[in-house]
Amino acid sequence: MGTASAMPISDRNPSAQMLSAGGRLFLIDCGEGTQQQMRRCHLSFLRVEAIFISHIHGDHVFGLFGLLNSMAMYGRTAPLDIYGPSALGGVLHFYSSYFGSDDNFEIRFHKLDCKEPQLVHTSKYLTVSAFPLNHKIECYGFRFDEIVSARHAEANPEYRAKSYAYCSDTAPFPELAGWVRAVTCLYHEATYPDSMADKAAHRYHSTSVQAARCALEAGAGRLIVGHYSSRITDFEALADECRAIFPDTVAASDCDVFEI
Ligand SMILES: [Zn+2]
Ligand SMILES: [Zn+2]
Repeated sequence: MGTASAMPISDRNPSAQMLSAGGRLFLIDCGEGTQQQMRRCHLSFLRVEAIFISHIHGDHVFGLFGLLNSMAMYGRTAPLDIYGPSALGGVLHFYSSYFGSDDNFEIRFHKLDCKEPQLVHTSKYLTVSAFPLNHKIECYGFRFDEIVSARHAEANPEYRAKSYAYCSDTAPFPELAGWVRAVTCLYHEATYPDSMADKAAHRYHSTSVQAARCALEAGAGRLIVGHYSSRITDFEALADECRAIFPDTVAASDCDVFEI
């Protein structure tokens, strides 16, 4: 729902993605304007089972207050699990203290604190693991793995469980490819083109080439890139830099839909 990074762009929103599995929705990051993007994409506020926040930079979290408030106005009563770094606990406490006193649903905050992949959420159709990323502040990526029922596996022995991984924001680091090994679809930030590698390193972000190398090393099925710097205007050129290394790359636009 959002493919920009921190600076405002007229036609792109900051980071937010929705993963849908069996009618259940899982929100990954919640940049400013996410609730409007959900509206545009016809996604229900009430079917969100859990929210996963990578880190407390505004372009990943400023949409949370509006969304929580709208969930309450739409009469949500189901508890909402929210995962994120410890600092998110204070942000949610602030929301609840000032804006959430009449809300009829419980926010269950789960503090992330891991040095390697850790299972954090189990749902009917998938499991979710968190793993640390290499950013300026505490930051986590997420991997979603489909649960295949024994009956389904027996009837379809060739079937391979699907998986999706979200890696934003991060500079490259050696362990990451192993943590997203053989994922069906990898989202990896590509904030800058290869020519701006110095800036990427300075700001703990990745370039197109670095995202593609991670996908290649991981043996991912497909790569989606986003979180573009506001300086980028030619998104296909950025994707071409990835494709030279990892051919099955797509440069995402807001409200794009991908089947995993
Ligand atoms: Zn960001
Ligand atoms: Zn960031």
